[in-house]
Amino acid sequence: MQHILVIAEHDNGQLKLASFAAAGFAQQVCAAGGGSFDILLLGSGLAAAAEAVRRAGAATVLTADHPELAHPLADRYAQVIADTAKARSATLVVGATSTFSKDVLPRAAALLDAGMLSDVVGVDAAGSEPTFRRVMFAGNVIATVQLDGALKFVAVRSSAFAAPAPTAAPSPIEAVAVDAARLPRFATFISRETKASARPDATEARIIVSGGRALKNSEDFERLVGGLADTLGAAVGSSRALVDSGITANSLQIGQTGKIVAPDLYLAIGISGAIQHVAGMKDTKVIAAINKDAEAPIFEVADYGLVADVYEAVPELIQKLKK
Ligand SMILES: Cc1cc2nc3c(=O)[nH]c(=O)nc-3n(C[C@H](O)[C@H](O)[C@H](O)COP(=O)(O)OP(=O)(O)OC[C@H]3O[C@@H](n4cnc5c(N)ncnc54)[C@H](O)[C@@H]3O)c2cc1C
Repeated sequence: MQHILVIAEHDNGQLKLASFAAAGFAQQVCAAGGGSFDILLLGSGLAAAAEAVRRAGAATVLTADHPELAHPLADRYAQVIADTAKARSATLVVGATSTFSKDVLPRAAALLDAGMLSDVVGVDAAGSEPTFRRVMFAGNVIATVQLDGALKFVAVRSSAFAAPAPTAAPSPIEAVAVDAARLPRFATFISRETKASARPDATEARIIVSGGRALKNSEDFERLVGGLADTLGAAVGSSRALVDSGITANSLQIGQTGKIVAPDLYLAIGISGAIQHVAGMKDTKVIAAINKDAEAPIFEVADYGLVADVYEAVPELIQKLKK
């Protein structure tokens, strides 16, 4: 029987959809092996975020709401997660795979001397010890593993778990006491730089338009990839080739060392389909690719392919879609 603590992620109170996938994972474990799960939110001014997760099936929505937690400083968050997991005798602490959880969860696991698995895409929780499936080597190997210890930490890929069906009754909300004096102060928040964008984030979008080395500069990327994305209300993504050459921002990179996405539609514009790129988008429902090389590996994973020059095909596509 598991007692699971799901760490919900938010951006200034705006809940990340991936958190629902983590709750879906927890629900699956409880359905198979018994138990219940709580959802923990950390931050300052959490009323809206807490309200947003009240129908995800949690026994309780816990809020660690304190001005000292206003910014996601990993050392402080890890301490609160570790304290809460201990106080509530959690057996499993779960987050969705993200830069946030990569920063915070291993620290919390280390504080409690617990083992951790990342990139979990499946679980069998029917026996006394859950068995996890996790992705390795850019998706070429799926390892089936168990973790030692009474408390385990896992980060799950949001593309692999469905959000729980909304419950009729909302979960109760309970405040977690935060002892500010106990919080570590290894890091100090100085400032935050964000690029305001009207486009959705690639990890949350239903459609992603992603560009590769075929795009020669940032103006072309914005006009063709950005233009097509805006016509479709889609997010924008990029191959690492463009990130490395400074044409696109690091935050746009899709792939093994970028974001892992699984939208309904992924439009690959002038991307060759290197294994490291495909590792980040192969769980997409429908992949469509435009590439002037008919032998490009992207066509091996694409459901629809167009052999064409992106500089000709994309403006035409934008024009036709606008009609
Ligand atoms: C450890 C490691 C991790 C990596 N992680 C990632 C990752 O996370 N994400 C990632 O993307 N890559 C990653 N890479 C890099 C990866 O191996 C490839 O180098 C990269 O994905 C190639 O990007 P690309 O497809 O844009 O460029 P290319 O491979 O150069 O392909 C460009 C494509 O555009 C086509 N093209 C060119 N001009 C036109 C045109 N005018 N019209 C139509 N088509 C055209 C070409 O035919 C070609 O297929 C990683 C590599 C390593 C070693």
